[in-house]
Amino acid sequence: MTQTIPITVARGDGIGPEIMDACLFILQEAGAALEIEEIHVGELVYLAGNSSGIEPGAWESLRRTKVFYKAPITTPQGGGYKSLNVTTRKTLGLFANVRPSVSYYPFVETKHPKMDLVIVRENEEDLYAGIEHRQTDEVYQTLKLISRPGTEKIVRFAFEYARANKRSKVTAFTKDNIMKLTDGLFHQVFDEIAAEYPDLENEHWIVDIGAAKLADTPEAFDVIVLPNLYGDVLSDVASQIAGSVGLAGSANIGEQAAMFEAIHGSAPRRAGQNMANPSGLLLGGVMMLVHLGLTETAERVHNAWLRTLEDGVHTYDVYRRGKETGVSKKEVGTREFAEAVVARLARKPQQLKPVSYGHIGTEASTSFPVPTAIIRPPHKKDLIGVDVFLHHHDRDPNKLGEALSRVNGEGLNLLMISNRGQKVWPGGAPETFCTDHWRCRFVTGEGQQITNNHIVRLLQRVADANFDFIKTEHLYNFDGEPAYSLGQGQ
Ligand code: NAD
Repeated sequence: MTQTIPITVARGDGIGPEIMDACLFILQEAGAALEIEEIHVGELVYLAGNSSGIEPGAWESLRRTKVFYKAPITTPQGGGYKSLNVTTRKTLGLFANVRPSVSYYPFVETKHPKMDLVIVRENEEDLYAGIEHRQTDEVYQTLKLISRPGTEKIVRFAFEYARANKRSKVTAFTKDNIMKLTDGLFHQVFDEIAAEYPDLENEHWIVDIGAAKLADTPEAFDVIVLPNLYGDVLSDVASQIAGSVGLAGSANIGEQAAMFEAIHGSAPRRAGQNMANPSGLLLGGVMMLVHLGLTETAERVHNAWLRTLEDGVHTYDVYRRGKETGVSKKEVGTREFAEAVVARLARKPQQLKPVSYGHIGTEASTSFPVPTAIIRPPHKKDLIGVDVFLHHHDRDPNKLGEALSRVNGEGLNLLMISNRGQKVWPGGAPETFCTDHWRCRFVTGEGQQITNNHIVRLLQRVADANFDFIKTEHLYNFDGEPAYSLGQGQ
């Protein structure tokens, strides 16, 4: 008897249950021996008082099966509800979001008929740490955190994914001309790891021009690896221009577990009417089968789905446009669409390119080793100063510079003041607009070092002089190199 593979399933909200039923029916008819453990997530769980939308007991199932097949959910209106996706990604360490964007021209309308790319988005870091503060009357901040282990994992994942899936190029987008330390690290790690994959082409674009090129000529890209925010934005752009937002699936992969889903939401207005298109969730399911090593079944389902699309059997969303161009032949509901896919399980598409997963191998649990974090020994770190941020109402930087210089002492001297990153003292330009948020940089003399105690005493002097300090950032040299931004205008 074939051994069954346990997976955790959430049927979700809105159209979720009906598209999940359709997908499980197709996967089972295709011969995927899955043992389903159902958990409850979403609207009712939120409304029952679980702020993350998941029952505490559900984690046991997820930890046991390590594979989560999730239908879309509805997040209730109003405040206080945390994103279930963010909670699941962070709790289970699902660091890699994999989103293929493929066009199915002429069966699905698109201006980019040759598009076939995969976005690999870092899922845990960057601006998504959610560490935000209001600091003054006028200024709010959020922290952008990029780590070396996190970046190494996602970049290595992208190269391994490209190699396993017979893709030829990996591209990184960053904004390292502005964010020299955070995005600079991402670019540097990309170059280091790219050198280990000489069989794959690699390239780096600044994200603005890269995004423009992606929107204009998506066929020029293959695998794109991105920090979290750029990946979030550009994976939606890529799906939209492929014409396939409703047809795209997505995988979230971690060292221990993985989650598979559609990229669309719960479409509440279409719920319970047997209308919704199950394709996005089905393609998420195909990614799950590949992850489980069931590559032959994955190939059969994916090709049957392509053939169904090609035969013009379409749910309302694809049918509407397809009937004008003659590619849509029959409008069907969710269940009938699933039956049409099942009826084609032995067939391949004739016009669209058939998929092949045979080369990926059938090792259970994953198609290639998921990269793990490498922890390195500490570097040499010297504390050489501190940026003290003030909430200060008087907008004259010269007056502030003069008054604040009086707290200099123990070798720590005020070097400069900037406002929103622009140096305004000494020698600022009179035209620069200043807010109530001032960065005041104190540094030691050449070759000298300080300790945290020097900073504590400096802050005491700042407080005694009645300045309202609202945060500090230490200035370090790592291995003798300045490890802080020098700021504009310097
Ligand atoms: P949505 O993706 O649910 O719907 C956008 C549009 O696409 C609607 O017109 C809808 O009818 C259509 N659509 C979406 N999926 C479809 C399908 N499979 N077949 C046919 N038509 C489909 O986005 P929304 O309306 O902004 O959000 C609705 C709810 O979904 C919200 O509560 C939102 O928080 C949630 N949501 C959940 C997820 C998730 O669980 N991963 C993702 C996005 C949104």
